Amino acid sequence: MMAAPSHAKLLPLITKSEIKAQITKIAKEIHRDYLEKDLVLVMVLKGAICITADLMREIGLPLDLQVVQAKSYDGMERGKLNVLGIDTLNVTGRDVILVDDIYDTGYTLSAVAAQISEKKPASLKTCVHLQKKDVKGQKKVKIDYPLFTIPNSFVVGYGLDYNEQYRELPGIFFLEQP
Ligand code: 5GP
Ligand code: MG
Repeated sequence: MMAAPSHAKLLPLITKSEIKAQITKIAKEIHRDYLEKDLVLVMVLKGAICITADLMREIGLPLDLQVVQAKSYDGMERGKLNVLGIDTLNVTGRDVILVDDIYDTGYTLSAVAAQISEKKPASLKTCVHLQKKDVKGQKKVKIDYPLFTIPNSFVVGYGLDYNEQYRELPGIFFLEQP
């Protein structure tokens, strides 16, 4: 595994308390929208671990947590995705919210959503922690529960990694490299 260069610099973008406030707001909306529903949260590993863990404890409704893992094939063109765990999802006829860490080109979220749709959930909505703006060729998929919009730069922390580093940081940081 490649370590981050020692000269890499972390610049704070979103603090722990800003994230907490936004989660509280979105969780209230989800609570209101999913009363009396059969709520399933499907989180995309690994990046969505922090947002999902914090959000599910604020929603205040019974829910079923399920996971998929989105993996890019190494050495192939960008966008070639392998989604693990679709086979074992139990979502047919249920009310699903797909939770992901970041919306960059939008390819991952739309590909995972399309595969979940094939399992015929009663409803399917999306919750995304960070949406990048000004991304060339970004897919226009509706995000039902967005938390933050950020500039088009590489970020880490709060579940997001750079070569498996920095996921444990409590806030979001730009990773600046010369
Ligand atoms: P997509 O381009 O398909 O929307 O995003 C693909 C995946 O790339 C995301 O789910 C995320 O795992 C990763 N990704 C995109 N932008 C960033 C970023 O700024 N930082 C990190 N750590 N991962 C990113
Ligand atoms: Mg991801």
